[in-house]
Amino acid sequence: MSAIDNLPPLREVIATHQLSARKSLGQNFLLDLNLTAKIARQAGDLTQCDVLEIGPGPGGLTRGLLSEGARKVVAVEKDTRCIAVLNDIAAAYPGRLEVINGDALEIDPLAHLTPPIRVAANLPYNVGTELLVRWLTPPDWPPFWQSLTLMFQREVAERIVAQPGSKAYGRLAILAQWRAEARIAMSLPPGAFTPPPKVSSAVVHLTALPEPRFPADPATLSRVVAAAFNQRRKMLRASLKTVAPDIEDRLIAAGIKPTDRAEQIPLECFCALAREVRKP
Ligand code: SAM
Repeated sequence: MSAIDNLPPLREVIATHQLSARKSLGQNFLLDLNLTAKIARQAGDLTQCDVLEIGPGPGGLTRGLLSEGARKVVAVEKDTRCIAVLNDIAAAYPGRLEVINGDALEIDPLAHLTPPIRVAANLPYNVGTELLVRWLTPPDWPPFWQSLTLMFQREVAERIVAQPGSKAYGRLAILAQWRAEARIAMSLPPGAFTPPPKVSSAVVHLTALPEPRFPADPATLSRVVAAAFNQRRKMLRASLKTVAPDIEDRLIAAGIKPTDRAEQIPLECFCALAREVRKP
């Protein structure tokens, strides 16, 4: 029996089911159930929510989410070896865990979830960043999720919450902070995982805002920010030349000095510039 439920400890589960971690699937497992319950608590009050979990693996975070009272968890796992273990957890929490064996980048689990929906995941970092960008750029806002609680490499977490003037400030910060409140909720050393990864990790918590902080057309903002940060060492009048031939005038109209560089520009000014660029 474990500290948080009546199921066996995770080390025992992994040994019984021979779930040796696979590098190709980015498997670094969390085996301390007190820690996974703590991560689950960062997602807020789950009792009235469905939770989408991506990459449950042997189920450490899944058990944390369920023991913290999630109304229902829908867990999407690519590794078929983990499905039997996850089904054992489903049996211990009748009607509250649905396990889907599939690739989170390819399947759409929304039909299995009832709003309000929160997302929680400890994913391989490449898949995590790709999903984060998808979740932050839906065709309509507000998105399907109320909050995202996601484990990232510390360096990626810092890029998500970065402020102007820092090296980490870029497209990811603007994407995340334009329509969500983003903060680092927890830091984890490599030793928290089995096997330990090379770098530290952090849990980022993002809450969807009802509407964007500042008005802007999403595609135009994205185009302006991409061009500005693609050549982040250049002055904006040079890096944004491809965006509009009269970009200097538009920068000035948006209250930005054409000689400034992308990493000095706050979100509000990027939004003002996107509005100026949309003008005929
Ligand atoms: N959540 C577990 C934990 O905290 O111990 C496992 C975390 S491990 C870092 C990442 C998990 O994501 C693995 O179980 C892996 O098999 C799964 N995974 C990797 N790529 C995936 C994908 N594209 N779709 C769904 N699951 C994936």
